[in-house]
Amino acid sequence: MSSENQLSLFEESTFNQKELIPTDAKIAISPGTYPSMVELAQHCSNCHRCKLGDTRQNVVVGRGNIQASIMIIGEAPGQNEDETGLPFVGRAGQLLEKILASVKLDSKKDVYIANINKCRPPGNRNPTTEEIKACKPYLLEQIRLVDPKIILLTGATALKGLLAEKRGITKIRGQWIEWEGRLCMPIFHPSYLLRNSTREVGGPKWLMWQDIQAVRAKFDEIQKN
Ligand code: SF4
Repeated sequence: MSSENQLSLFEESTFNQKELIPTDAKIAISPGTYPSMVELAQHCSNCHRCKLGDTRQNVVVGRGNIQASIMIIGEAPGQNEDETGLPFVGRAGQLLEKILASVKLDSKKDVYIANINKCRPPGNRNPTTEEIKACKPYLLEQIRLVDPKIILLTGATALKGLLAEKRGITKIRGQWIEWEGRLCMPIFHPSYLLRNSTREVGGPKWLMWQDIQAVRAKFDEIQKN
């Protein structure tokens, strides 16, 4: 075959790197890959970049306003989320709704909610480091698309998954951490509050009340500017 013909094989090639993204965690997802959340969700629905894709019922991408100023990031879907395809819909989700409502934040208008991993780890175990790594580029694309000013990281896995933060959640909850031009605050996971329901001053629920008020104040400040 002539050199010219050989080169034309490349031109006719239908090989498309983007189509391979859901097949292998080694395929990079560069910033700007997805023009919309719809396209990103389509890839997630077919994704097997990690083993969690083999056992999920439904992929759980996110819910809420994709143009919200606040993004809430949890760890991974549980049973209710796996069944419905929506994040934070079980008892912990109901408590999250109450926490937001206590400072008049609307979960459909003011926030977008997503998870570090989009598929349920069997038996509700924590996602592994490899599974977090495989899914993280989707999360980074979600953050780019939503473009939130404030990110709330609920629990240790969210904290580790996004910021690679080694300090524990109890040490740094309620603190603002600047990341990529955004303000992040680690907060307790609502399921932790369900297990520790004391309302004592200094207890987990009391601390969450302080944190969510600080979030509301920052949200108001941002809205004004
Ligand atoms: S958890 Fe993320 S990386 Fe793993 S299969 Fe699901 S969507 Fe893909």
